Parts: sequence; C-alpha cells; structure tokens
Amino acid sequence: MRLSQMLFITLRDDPADAEIPSHKLLIRAGYIRRIGSGIYAYLPLMWRVLQKVSQIVREEMNATGAQECLLPQLQPSELWKESGRWDTYTKAEGIMFALQDRREQELALGPTHEEVITTIARDMIRSYRQLPLNLYQIQTKFRDEIRPRFGLMRGREFIMKDAYSFNANEESLKKTYQQMYQAYTNVLQRSGLAFRAVQADSGAIGGSGSQEFMVLAEAGEDEVLYTEDGQYAANVEKAVSLPFDAEPSPFSTYEKRETPGTETIEKVSQFLKCSPTQIVKNVLYQTVYDNGLTVMALVSIRGDQEVNEVKLHNELTKQASQYGAKTILNLSVPSTEAQEKWAAKLLPLGYIAPDIGDEYIQNQFNNLSSGAKKTGEGSVHPKFLRLVDKTVVDLKNFVTGANESGYHVVGANWGVQFKLPDIIVDVRKAKAGDRAIHNPEQTIKSARGIEVGHIFQLGTKYSQAMGATYTNEQGEEKPLIMGCYGLGVSRLAQAAVEQSYDQDGIIWPVAIAPYHAIVTIPNINDAQQVEIAEKLYTELNQAGVETLLDDRNERAGVKFKDADLIGIPYRIVTGRAISNGKVEVVERQTRKSQEIPINEVVSTLKGWIDLAKGE
Ligand code: ATP
Ligand code: MG
Repeated sequence: MRLSQMLFITLRDDPADAEIPSHKLLIRAGYIRRIGSGIYAYLPLMWRVLQKVSQIVREEMNATGAQECLLPQLQPSELWKESGRWDTYTKAEGIMFALQDRREQELALGPTHEEVITTIARDMIRSYRQLPLNLYQIQTKFRDEIRPRFGLMRGREFIMKDAYSFNANEESLKKTYQQMYQAYTNVLQRSGLAFRAVQADSGAIGGSGSQEFMVLAEAGEDEVLYTEDGQYAANVEKAVSLPFDAEPSPFSTYEKRETPGTETIEKVSQFLKCSPTQIVKNVLYQTVYDNGLTVMALVSIRGDQEVNEVKLHNELTKQASQYGAKTILNLSVPSTEAQEKWAAKLLPLGYIAPDIGDEYIQNQFNNLSSGAKKTGEGSVHPKFLRLVDKTVVDLKNFVTGANESGYHVVGANWGVQFKLPDIIVDVRKAKAGDRAIHNPEQTIKSARGIEVGHIFQLGTKYSQAMGATYTNEQGEEKPLIMGCYGLGVSRLAQAAVEQSYDQDGIIWPVAIAPYHAIVTIPNINDAQQVEIAEKLYTELNQAGVETLLDDRNERAGVKFKDADLIGIPYRIVTGRAISNGKVEVVERQTRKSQEIPINEVVSTLKGWIDLAKGE
C-alpha cells in the first residue's frame, strides 16, 4: 500500500478524551476513530491488526478441533426468558441493548451467545455419539457498558471470539477446557504478549471453575494477586489468603466507653489505643433481590480488613432462596436518602454493633397488600441478615460499636455479650502483603492486568434451563455439560499497544503488526531513490513481507516520525547509502540501524520476520 493513496492522517497532539497511552496512540496514529460513546470505527490499519489477531485465534481454535460458525446478533427475547436472563440482563445489569420490532416483538443485540447456542444444541444434539462438540465464532458483540472507556478496551460494540463446548461428562469437559487453556496460551504467546492466567470469580453462575487471561499492564482495570513461586495467581475478586494474626487485646473486662468522634476504624483504634485487628467492624449493605424485596445485610469483619463485594454478592445470592428470590438486582452501601426509605429511626452509623436491633427497620410489612406480602415486591425485610466474616470469629475481648452514637464497647466476646451470627462467610478482600494459603512463607504480590480472555466450565446451567439434553450410552436422557470461552479480539489488539510503546509511538509485535515493513523515500524528487524504493516495495510484497511505501511529498523527518508513530517493525530508507548499493534498515523496537546491500534486503527481512513470528 502506498501512503500517498491511503486514508492516512496522524495527529501531533494527544486527543483530549483519551486517558491511557494505548488509546491516545491508536487515535493519534490513525488506527481508530471515535463515532460515539464506546463506539469506534476500525480504520484500515486497525482492521489489518484485528484480522491478524483473528487469524491467530482461528488457527489455534481450529487446532483444538473447534468449528467456526456465525450466530445471529439479533436475538429473540424468548430465548433469554427461557434461560432466565432476560430480566437480569435488561434490568439488573442493564448491559443488554433491547429493542422492539415493528410487530412489537422484543429482541436484543447479542452481548454473548449462550442462549442461541443452547437452542441449536437442543435441536441438533441427540446422542452421546455427537459429543464432544465445540463451536466458535468471531464477531461483534454489543454491551451497554455503564462506563465505556479507554477506547477499544471497554467499548459498547467490540469484537469477541466466543466458543461453546458440549460434553457428555465432567471429565470430557475438563479435557476441552484444558485444550482451550492451551489454545489461549498459544494465542497470547504468538501475539507477543506478556500475560498471566489467573483463577477467576465464576459468580452466581457456579460451575466448577474459570480462569482469566490477563495481559500485564499498569493501565489494566483488574488487580491480580500472585506469589512468586508461580503456584498461585487469582483475580482479586476471587483471591484468598491468610490475613495477619490479630494482636492480643489490651482489654480484659467488658465495658461501654465514651468515644466521641470515632466513626472510622482509624479513629477508634487511636482513641482506644488498640490495634484495628481487635475491632469488629459492622458494615451495612442494601440488597435488592429479583422479587423486589430489599434485605439489609450487616457484615461483621475485622477492623483492618475490607469487604470484597464480589464475594459478598456470591454469599448473598446463596441466601436468595430463603427470601423467595433467585438473584440480586442491586447491592450497595445505602446512601442517606436510601436509609430514609427504610430506617425507622436514625442509625448510629460508625457505632453499629453486630446485634443492632431489627426495630431500626420500619415495619412496613404490615401495611402491604396481601399480594405484595407474598411476593415481597417493594418491601424491606423486617430483619437484618447478619453475616460474620471468618476474621472475627476467633477474636477475644474485642472492641465494637455500642449502637449509640459516640460510644463503643471494649472487652466483648462472642457467646457472652454478642451472639455469633449463624452465617459465617469468607468475604474479606485478599491483598498484597498477606501470606499465601498454599505456603504461608510466600507473600502475596499485586499486579495490574487487562482481562483479554475468560474460560469457563459452565456445567448444566443453560442446558437444564432450556432443556438441551442428549441420550447417553445407557440410553438415559441427560442435560448437556457445557463450557464457554471468550476472548476479546479488539481488547487484545489494544492491550498489545499498552504493553509495547515508547515516547515516539506504537511498537507492534511483528505477528500482529498491520504491515511488517515500510519503505521510506526521503526525497521523492530523487529519481534513483524512487526507483530503488519502488523495486524493493514490489519485491518485498511479492515475497510475503507486507510492506508500505511512504511515497508522500513530505519532508523526511515527517515520514520518519509517522513511521515511528504507527509502529511498523522495520523501516527501510532509500537514502544516502544507495550510492554504495545499500539501504538503511531500522528496527522500530531497538532503533538498531544497519546498512544492507539492496539485493539482500528481501531475504534478510523475510528471515527476520519469520523468526519473529516463530515460523
Ligand atoms: P469485564 O470484566 O472486563 O467486563 P467480562 O467478564 O464482562 O469482562 P466476558 O463476558 O467474559 O467479559 O467476555 C469475554 C471477553 O470479551 C473478555 O475477557 C474481554 O476480553 C472482552 N470484553 C468484554 N467486555 C468488553 C468490552 N466492553 N469491550 C471490549 N472487550 C470486552
Ligand atoms: Mg463486562
């Protein structure tokens, strides 16, 4: 491709709305263009990168025996109602774009394809002889992200590879899962990325496990906790660890103390001269279940620890059935306005004890219609749901609130002053500096990552809900066992930039660079320069070295700057050296420059590129 004929416009300054380096660079270098919030056009250079990533993904998927297909993006609501996800996706998470056609049929733009693929499996898979089966597609997904940001990293329209496997038993599922793990590892290695596979939260979906593939980068939205022995790595949402031991309590007798102005753990611990590890902190959460019932959860946790809201969400989902609900629509720390709706009197915030009385919750229940009483719709459950984190179960003579503003109690004990709540949970947030569970001598470290892939052992959630069964060898009808495997193609492409750039621009890994080489003519009025450049340009492309020709009528300096900015791995300059029958070849990454005889350029470049691509 000749730059003179390309839609090629680079920007000198960073765009105002871009926060992270990869986003700025992709815009400045003319790879992408913002059309709306979370909506981008992939310009010709970007499209080449995306096609290269897709091709690597395709090759690795095919190598596992998975088959490519293309599923519809318009999805009828009935499918989502069958799986039970219509309401959570359109209302609770609200992440799905839903619409009505002119016949008033409800449809959605696919954010993911479990429902569609399970329908196909229900219709087409009959017997264990057809299993295992793994289908994948590479396609645009739509998600109404609440905060689209960072360019292609979190778009509302983006390209994903999604695969879905159907297996006859757990063992077979594990085998497919392992093949996909290997395929993802190969994709990321071939794309030239530094990454880590980590244990991930599989949320309310359950299943027997999932892993995320994290591209390591400071700008990553995810936190990864790991140990240096390589034995442990998990998303912070899922991570477990050993907290520090609690310090012995300085209190030996139970007393109520006046502790004015000590709403925070830090202030109480200073005022009472005790360690935060001796304080039982009680945090209120407002949970709205899918039947409309609001339940106030009180979580008691050690003062030096934080609540991991993903773990808490999972625990509260387990409690849903006791309230006649299935899932959670919303979980939040109640704001003052929210409290006014249900609190019968002013809460002693900052001084709450594990046994705060249920009379703080307005007894609206009695005023409800009998229908509403049954469903719970719009009401607040009259009792707190009390959860206690493992970190406080063994505390002795602890400090906690006195249920009265400005007062705490000290020297308290479970089973004496306070009843230990029945529901004991692990909802603490693991953090860097903790000891590892597999080996307490290993310290937990933290890194930032960009989640580019998520592989998932789903089990029978969708097949059961939608009645997708097969007949096993014994002639029994069983639900299909499923796995799903997502990989963000467009996010991966941008993650590569986030991991590889310098002050002058992008440094593409050779395997996914839009072009391998660029031939730069310093002066297009020099006929000899032009002639040699044209010849190299033609021969390189013929030899499979994908090459650009910068034949624009621009100063050499401008051309060099642009070549650096767009990040093409090799630059070939038909400058002064041609008088000696040579050209200058500069490697983008190292900036190493050398003069190579003109008749050796094609074979040399071809050799380098094959080597870099690992071929
Ligand atoms: P995240 O936690 O980042 O929102 P997710 O858990 O919603 O991701 P999945 O549903 O597992 O992601 O989707 C599979 C892959 O698709 C992700 O690993 C990611 O690479 C990509 N992806 C998800 N959401 C987006 C988005 N809004 N923009 C670009 N890529 C995305
Ligand atoms: Mg998401």
